[in-house]
Amino acid sequence: MQKIGHFIDGKHVEGTSGRYTDVYNPATGEVQAQVALASQAEMDAAVANAAEAQLGWAATNPQRRARVMMKFVDLLNRDMDKLAEALSREHGKTLPDAKGDIIRGLEVAEFCIGAPHLLKGEYTEGAGPGIDMYSMRQPLGVVAGITPFNFPAMIPMWKFCPAISCGNAFILKPSERDPSVPIMLAELMIEAGLPAGVLNVVNGDKSAVDAICDDETIQAVGFVGSTPIAQYVYSRATANGKRAQCFGGAKNHMIIMPDADLDQAADALVGAGYGAAGERCMAVSVAVPVGETTANALIEKLAPKVEALKIGPYTAGNDVDFGPLVTKEALGRVRGLVDQGVREGANLVVDGRDFSMQGYENGFFMGGCLFDNVTKDMDIYKTEIFGPVLSVVRAESYEEALDLPLSHEYGNGTAIFTRDGDTARDFASRINIGMVGINVPIPVPLAYHTFGGWKKSGFGDLNQHGPDGFKFYTRTKTVTSRWPSGLKDGAEFVIPTMK
Ligand code: NAD
Repeated sequence: MQKIGHFIDGKHVEGTSGRYTDVYNPATGEVQAQVALASQAEMDAAVANAAEAQLGWAATNPQRRARVMMKFVDLLNRDMDKLAEALSREHGKTLPDAKGDIIRGLEVAEFCIGAPHLLKGEYTEGAGPGIDMYSMRQPLGVVAGITPFNFPAMIPMWKFCPAISCGNAFILKPSERDPSVPIMLAELMIEAGLPAGVLNVVNGDKSAVDAICDDETIQAVGFVGSTPIAQYVYSRATANGKRAQCFGGAKNHMIIMPDADLDQAADALVGAGYGAAGERCMAVSVAVPVGETTANALIEKLAPKVEALKIGPYTAGNDVDFGPLVTKEALGRVRGLVDQGVREGANLVVDGRDFSMQGYENGFFMGGCLFDNVTKDMDIYKTEIFGPVLSVVRAESYEEALDLPLSHEYGNGTAIFTRDGDTARDFASRINIGMVGINVPIPVPLAYHTFGGWKKSGFGDLNQHGPDGFKFYTRTKTVTSRWPSGLKDGAEFVIPTMK
């Protein structure tokens, strides 16, 4: 059985805790490797090593640091197929989707090539007599990222690329369900010229996460995962004096106005609802058609599209719309929620619960499910299902439709489909959600903007990547300098003001 350890100080290191967990191939249901789960002592050693490496890296000029990122982008493109295959084998998503996962991370690496510009700081000449004032953005030291299973390439890169470009050393604790790609990314960073010890991958579970939250050297923690754990990591890390940004779960609504192009809306819903088996924090899981006529026409268009979805292993290449769920537990949980929806009285228009594939009977596959007549009080409406299940909640008016995402506890993404600019503007202005699409179902901002949800989808006050990423991984030092007049005037006892 293949054993996956850690990547510390530029080298593969075996786990010493004696604890391992299984890594599956979700398409076949087979255990394909075992990944080591780090102890606190292993985490402490990795952090101490990173702290040493960080000093030299912070002293390296920003342009040289940016060249590492430039080379890293080349290497990602060189190894794209290899990375995508490893990603799909552990996650289950299709190969084109795995490439999308890598490319969305690569784009953040590209943005980070501009780090010297973003780190320039501010300067005021002559702020007072003989006085100049300047602000510097300095790295924090050692920082950490804790990432989820559903984007094992993109989210680690969203964390470590800005952090490292700013001169920090990084400890990455990826998901234990698909740990291979994060290690491959760290190998590529070393090949790109990153000094050993600046980027370390420490695999693990709750013990490793707790060790990160409690470690005195680690200055900041970036987390992405489910809301209860995001909230837990945020509380524990900030209670220990760390800077933290923790992004959680979602329930993304798409409103379909009576004037929308319904064919376009139905296609958008199928892609955004069922792509990656619904295991995306920006997946659309609730469709809200406005008016009975819109709802009936939408269901008529959606049902055959959901029935026709092509499900299969990543090895089938482009012939598959989505693959299996990540684990047997995830499959059981999603099926259980669909059962619950039926018990609650929602109308299951398409039932994919019993989907099975010849030759892949032990894979964690499930067909697409479509619910109609879901209501606000149902569990399937309140809970993040994280599977190939779309719920239709019918609304009589725009205001009733708007109230659904407004009053939902999650606030990651949302979308509206309409031909009316006034309605679209009103929606974008009034909605209390971090990322909004207008005739765009999955509004994931590009690398030079920032990504982050509101309400229970995000804890902390800065977003990921874009300019916010650089703010999160640096702190400001402001220097006031005076040369040379007035220095011999004697002590001043009144707080200086710029007269
Ligand atoms: P998860 O919360 O189970 O795991 C995330 C990380 O936390 C992993 O590294 C895991 O090892 C660690 N972890 C798990 N249980 C823990 C515990 N009890 N104590 C401490 N650490 C623990 O999430 P997941 O299943 O890997 O990912 C899916 C979730 O992530 C979904 O809720 C999805 O919406 C969310 N997500 C959010 C975003 C976003 O940007 N908001 C992006 C992607 C995924």
